[in-house]
Amino acid sequence: MPIVKDFFIGLSNSSFLNKTAKEIGPMFGANKVVAGNTIKSLVDTIERLNQKGITVTVDCLGEFVVTEGEAIQAKDQIIEVMYAIYNHNLDGHMSVKLSQLGSEFDIDLAYRNLREILLKANEFNNMHINIDTEKYDSLFDITQVLDRLKGEFRNVGTVIQAYLYKADALIDKYPELRLRMVKGAYKESDSIAYQTKEEIDDNYIRLIEKRLLNAKNVTSIATHDDKVITHIKQFIKDNNIEKDRYEFQMLYGFRSELAEQIAGEGYNFCIYVPYGDDWFSYFMRRLAERPQNLNLMFKELLKPTVLKKTGIVAGTLAAVVATSVLVGRLLKK
Ligand SMILES: Cc1cc2nc3c(=O)[nH]c(=O)nc-3n(C[C@H](O)[C@H](O)[C@H](O)COP(=O)(O)OP(=O)(O)OC[C@H]3O[C@@H](n4cnc5c(N)ncnc54)[C@H](O)[C@@H]3O)c2cc1C
Repeated sequence: MPIVKDFFIGLSNSSFLNKTAKEIGPMFGANKVVAGNTIKSLVDTIERLNQKGITVTVDCLGEFVVTEGEAIQAKDQIIEVMYAIYNHNLDGHMSVKLSQLGSEFDIDLAYRNLREILLKANEFNNMHINIDTEKYDSLFDITQVLDRLKGEFRNVGTVIQAYLYKADALIDKYPELRLRMVKGAYKESDSIAYQTKEEIDDNYIRLIEKRLLNAKNVTSIATHDDKVITHIKQFIKDNNIEKDRYEFQMLYGFRSELAEQIAGEGYNFCIYVPYGDDWFSYFMRRLAERPQNLNLMFKELLKPTVLKKTGIVAGTLAAVVATSVLVGRLLKK
């Protein structure tokens, strides 16, 4: 349903809605896919997952960073979370976005912030730092920063979006780095990215297989798609890929039973745990990916207390989202 997808991607890019949502806190079911906004709630979540044999990668939410002060604050929050993971002896690492470190207005500032994070990571058991990929127009910045840092640090990696025609070349460029393989979450034009689910799925599987056979570091297979997971498990078996060369990843709050089942089968498993107040844009992207995720918020919307408690601003947000629920349902019919 491209219209629904475009609609939610559009909402995710609204700085007004993001700012507003940040003020009122997680709602519409977002609290089921974000691990709270206190270090205590985050630590509790990680402990619970670690006890099930699952490691985590934490994303301190926040993309609409427009001042140096905000970028430094984001960097400090990331280091605070890294310290909590280390101090509580938890099994986890970090996922960061260059945009939250200032890349949209000062790429050198983002580089310096990330370098400081990596220097700290070396004090915290060489914690891995993953650079999440964002919209295509930020890809050049990511590779530029990565190329500057990968000689100095071994614990930095990034994400390959299989919908990009360029994904194949990026895999060839970074065999020595730890890479996360995803289908891709943003809206990109057909001049740079595959558009149909079939093309994206085919490229995704092809690239994971290529990477598993050739890489010199861990490949994270990040998907909720059980067909892809079943296929890759068989590929791993047929090609005797060693266990420490790959892991599966999923997002916190999605397909938890399947995640626990795969971890229980003995595969390395990592959950991507979003944390903090800046929940809106992340949540809208999840709705864009899978309109069925609307069910997460549908029950919440029906609670009269939700609107009463949060006033007119939340009412506006609720109206926007409620409209989309209806549009989604109508289009499904
Ligand atoms: C850990 C992680 C990190 C990510 N990091 C990035 C990043 O840095 N940059 C980026 O662009 N994108 C990132 N993504 C998002 C990714 O690009 C996809 O947009 C997202 O994962 C949806 O695609 P999918 O592979 O899960 O499968 P989809 O194509 O969305 O789903 C395929 C099939 O899987 C099943 N399925 C999926 N979800 C569910 C569910 N909740 N319940 C039941 N069945 C379900 C359905 O049968 C569905 O048809 C990340 C995703 C993960 C899991």
